[in-house]
Amino acid sequence: MKIQFDFSDKRVLVTGSTMGIGRAAAEAFRELGATVAINGRTDASVAKAIAELGGGPHLVAAPGDLSTTTEINTVIGALLARWDGIDVLVNNAGRGDDCVVDNVTEEYWEKMLALNLKGAFFTTQACIPALKVSRGCVVNVASGLGVMGGPPGSVVYSTTKTAMVQMTKMMALEFAQQGVRVNAIVPGWIDTPMIRTENERLGDNGLFDYIELTTPVGRIGTSEEMAGAILYLAAPFASFTTGSVLVADGGLTSGHYV
Ligand code: NAD
Repeated sequence: MKIQFDFSDKRVLVTGSTMGIGRAAAEAFRELGATVAINGRTDASVAKAIAELGGGPHLVAAPGDLSTTTEINTVIGALLARWDGIDVLVNNAGRGDDCVVDNVTEEYWEKMLALNLKGAFFTTQACIPALKVSRGCVVNVASGLGVMGGPPGSVVYSTTKTAMVQMTKMMALEFAQQGVRVNAIVPGWIDTPMIRTENERLGDNGLFDYIELTTPVGRIGTSEEMAGAILYLAAPFASFTTGSVLVADGGLTSGHYV
């Protein structure tokens, strides 16, 4: 087998790819030859992202809110019909709003689980028959908070990402003999709109200072670095890799640093 990054003729859906990690992954897959479906909640945000990525026939709009099964089935149904299959699914769409235990409401709990966990589960379920045909793969975007604890406020988010890690392993086992690989990446702190918004909410550059202090390599990560990890797991030469949880976190989850 030739060790090269080549996604020519591959059909790739990256959920939540209008910005941040998802967008960097979509761009990288496209640069390596794939046809990529761009997803975000609205038609307008997806159209804008596609235009900014250069447009053309290899970028396909797949807008829709992936936190309900009705919309998941509509989005995935249309995409599979258009492509007559799919090769790579990246479950990246996620939300990271903070809330301490005392303030968690049922509505907040359901909103978080609906996208981060239920969305990823049912998007995968909808793609699995086609992935079995293509002998394709799934890459889940989990989080450092899926494998270790963190600052107060992340309890529900962390719960969704921990479940996503376990879901990755269970699905990897279930589909191992049917040719579908399922893996996850574990990003540390990554410079995306999600983190910038949170930094502004906290003020005084507090979050970025905290990240620099507590991340062993001394800096925040980039979306392109996460795209690299996703590409590895989706690459044909990762054919023996399934059920793995690839940490890409600047050392964060290795243990206490300060
Ligand atoms: P972001 O907020 O910058 O981008 C999120 C993307 O998801 C956007 O394209 C948005 O349109 C889309 N999205 C949001 N809700 C959606 C919905 N209901 N349906 C469809 N799309 C929706 O986020 P990011 O920082 O790039 O995070 C991407 C993923 O990486 C998330 O799953 C997040 O939990 C995970 N992650 C991020 C970090 C980090 O530090 N940035 C760390 C660990 C894990």
